[in-house]
Amino acid sequence: IPVDPFDLVIFGGTGDLARRKILPALYRRFCDEQMPREARIIGAARTEQSPQEYRDWVAEGLKEFAPRSAADPDAMAGFLDRVDYLPVDAKGEGGWSDLKSKMRANVVQAFYFSVAPALFGDLAERLHHYGIAHEGARIVVEKPFGRDLGTARSLNATLAEHFDESQIYRIDHYLGKETVQNLMAVRFGNVLFEPLWNAQYVDHVQITVAESVGVGGRGSYYDKSGAMRDMVQNHLMQLLCLTAMEPPSRFEPDAVRDEKLKVIRALQSPPLKDIVRGQYKAGDNPSYLDDVEEPDSRTESFIAMKLHIANWRWNGTPFYLRTGKRLKTRKSEIVVHFKEPPHSIFDEDAGSRPNILSIRLQPDEGIDLSVTIKEPGPGGMRLIDVPLDMSFADALGPEAADVPDAYERLIMDVIRGNQTLFMRGDEVEAAWAWTDPLIEAWTERGDRPVPYEPGSAGPEDSAILMHRDSRRWREVG
Ligand code: NAD
Repeated sequence: IPVDPFDLVIFGGTGDLARRKILPALYRRFCDEQMPREARIIGAARTEQSPQEYRDWVAEGLKEFAPRSAADPDAMAGFLDRVDYLPVDAKGEGGWSDLKSKMRANVVQAFYFSVAPALFGDLAERLHHYGIAHEGARIVVEKPFGRDLGTARSLNATLAEHFDESQIYRIDHYLGKETVQNLMAVRFGNVLFEPLWNAQYVDHVQITVAESVGVGGRGSYYDKSGAMRDMVQNHLMQLLCLTAMEPPSRFEPDAVRDEKLKVIRALQSPPLKDIVRGQYKAGDNPSYLDDVEEPDSRTESFIAMKLHIANWRWNGTPFYLRTGKRLKTRKSEIVVHFKEPPHSIFDEDAGSRPNILSIRLQPDEGIDLSVTIKEPGPGGMRLIDVPLDMSFADALGPEAADVPDAYERLIMDVIRGNQTLFMRGDEVEAAWAWTDPLIEAWTERGDRPVPYEPGSAGPEDSAILMHRDSRRWREVG
């Protein structure tokens, strides 16, 4: 279904994110006929260039980052027809009056802040000062949303000077992933899972976001942040919230976000002994310390932790989180380990296996549930577990395997005015309020991350964190 006509201004329209994610996402939506004829995309950045020069650059980017759709010359021409460009200086006065005259009054207005967060305030102020944004206009802001509670609060306050919370769309692209939304469908659209979704039946939950790449060219940026700020405070926290939250009364933005916020507020601060921080060693590639400028850096490229949520539903069920760079493979998943049946009627040597529900976010999005059955054949009652695989491709045909990129869904939600999959200001602040004291505690103690082998599952201490509780991480690769 096509969305309403819109003017989407991409501040930072010549940047890396615009080229790799935003423009390809818009193009794929165009090819799927979700973008109406009257839609317009206006790139706005510092570079002085003509709209035609920008369109050529966009076309090159699409060939690289949306190659399948870009092969159709008619589609490409149709999309480029809707693309315009304007040099605008976020910190100066150049370009703003021109932008005002370009904007149409009777369509949805969206402004994507794909620039450094230091410029958010300048953009918000000028949009207001030049009377460009009308009342229903939406702004989209990228991560990082602050680097601690103080900076997040001041960013929220700056945006709030000119925009209402209902106009602000804070992107966490993990929320746009099809399987993450499916997690809610599985939990709240079936009667099978929700009655078991609590401490009585769930032994523990594992959330893993493993990356095989190092910090590479982003070394100096990453070193100021680390895995806790870069991944846990936002992405892993969001996944935890969606897994642990109470059923909202409706699938509506504030109802969902209220429930997520309650989870963050109930999340206990773990003792430092339940946190493992690591840095990758050198292998075929340089070590973490060689990738960053600070030779004595104590920033972590890996973190694992055991968390408790202090509420009735989850009392006694730990949530184990881990994320890191230069691990064995690229893989993100949420794994819910159910408890074993309370009594086994089978012989001990029949074996017993708990049910495991795993929600794979990448590489191949899908959900599978392991179920115990009898091993086929005449060998007596021996139990094995088989996956009930709900991979999109198998269940819904090959087109379903062509899962849309998270940005496609999220940008269309901005145009539709649906904030459900975006973080609210108080959620972001609550997440920082939980994160900050932990970072302060290990910094104060002068803790050093432990080195780990590249291509591994992280430091040995991370496995020990699980062994202590007689549990094991799922294989990373
Ligand atoms: P980039 O450095 O590639 O691009 C920055 C853009 O901002 C350019 O278009 C530049 O012209 C524009 N710009 C800079 N100063 C300006 C000014 N004074 N006035 C107008 N325009 C100005 O950055 P990027 O990688 O595209 O990232 C953009 C934002 O998205 C950042 O906040 C970043 O943290 C965030 N982000 C990026 C990625 C990614 O994969 N690149 C992922 C997540 C979040």
